Amino acid sequence: MSGLLSVFFHLLLLFKLVAPVTFRHHRYDDLVRTLYKVHNECPYITRVYSIGRSVKGRHLYVLEFSDYPGIHEPLEPEVKYVGNMHGNEVLGRELLLQLAEFLCEEFRNGNQRIVRLVEGTRVHIMPSMNPDGYEVAAAQGADISGYLVGRNNANGVDLNRNFPDLNTYVYYNEKHGGPNHHLPLPDNWKSQVEPETEAVIHWIRSFNFVLSANLHGGAVVANYPYDKSLEHRVRGVRRTANTPTPDDKLFQKLAKVYSYAHGWMHQGWNCGDYFPDGITNGASWYSLSKGMQDFNYLHTNCFEITLELSCDKFPRQEELQREWLGNREALIQFLEQVHQGIKGMVLDENYNNLAEAVISVSGINHDVTSGDHGDYFRLLLPGTYTVTATAPGFDPETVTVTVGPGEPKLVTLCRQLGLPPDGTLPPPGAPYARQSCFPLTLTKEPATPRYSAGHSWLL
Ligand SMILES: [Zn+2]
Repeated sequence: MSGLLSVFFHLLLLFKLVAPVTFRHHRYDDLVRTLYKVHNECPYITRVYSIGRSVKGRHLYVLEFSDYPGIHEPLEPEVKYVGNMHGNEVLGRELLLQLAEFLCEEFRNGNQRIVRLVEGTRVHIMPSMNPDGYEVAAAQGADISGYLVGRNNANGVDLNRNFPDLNTYVYYNEKHGGPNHHLPLPDNWKSQVEPETEAVIHWIRSFNFVLSANLHGGAVVANYPYDKSLEHRVRGVRRTANTPTPDDKLFQKLAKVYSYAHGWMHQGWNCGDYFPDGITNGASWYSLSKGMQDFNYLHTNCFEITLELSCDKFPRQEELQREWLGNREALIQFLEQVHQGIKGMVLDENYNNLAEAVISVSGINHDVTSGDHGDYFRLLLPGTYTVTATAPGFDPETVTVTVGPGEPKLVTLCRQLGLPPDGTLPPPGAPYARQSCFPLTLTKEPATPRYSAGHSWLL
């Protein structure tokens, strides 16, 4: 009897080992089911939420991974992946669903690398920004799908040409002086954008995202800002010209991390094109205006690159497993890049958090700001930097910091009040006089008891 049982269990185990992982295309209902399935399998480290609806009323779902879902933990960076913005470019959508299943499964298996990632990072995964376009493309099927069928949203608009154009302002500022960061939205921006774009803009303004990738198809290359060339049109002719950001070296590194961890992107020759190292400045390839990655960089603290992942925009189902294996390591390594550079707290002399303090790095004309919790994140390559924090009504604070290739550098910038709020000079020794400021000991305590919160459903 026990022999029979043993055979039975071995057969069961064998079946489990050889049972094929299902790689398939997911229509909208299937996508929603898969997100909730992952959430049900990993309820303590995930949350499903929607940032809004498409033109046809489909939800723009996000699956969040964190050890405290729904909560921003100070000093834990927020990172995002967005797929399927062009409805007919479907590989990113499928890879992000695979990634969600992978993170959940490996966390449950105790994979230390994934446990560390989930415990130290808040990861937001949006498999589809254009669910309406996807349905149009999927109805055609992989083999007969036209090159552009389903690319746009249901109003026929290309969502990656639909963000407010902030490049025009920044290129003007470069010539005439003015900021390169946190450029304001135009007054009438809502009337100029599609529902999907508006939802994404609200989303990226409501989280302090640090790093992001936007997944596309039709080529195999990691593309970094700017997408819009400095001289976008000269006498009606589109110009392409390498148009680097002040963070060009960092963006090249981020793009290379993906291309070199990818199975074949770094080889350069793909889909009949050649890109050295498998990366390219967006504008030097072809200039596009009102794209999402430039908007992220110019309006928020978020550094976004665009990943072109497959020659075939709608690969056949049989290709999906190979694509997943080619991208899996790259998708994880890119997320890990958010822990590079410096981060810290900006505090006043009473250790209150200071939001929207400006963090400047000398030699790089692109500032970031602290988030609602007073924490800031500045991605930087290894090197020594002079970093200054400023906030209205406070004395600037400058520190010199060396960033190594490994762990993030923690810099706590204490703000000191120079003047009382009414602007009068304080008497010597008064609370508002300058005082020495001690760096905080940064032991993080959970805002709420473990696993008891964060399962709110925003639909
Ligand atoms: Zn695309």
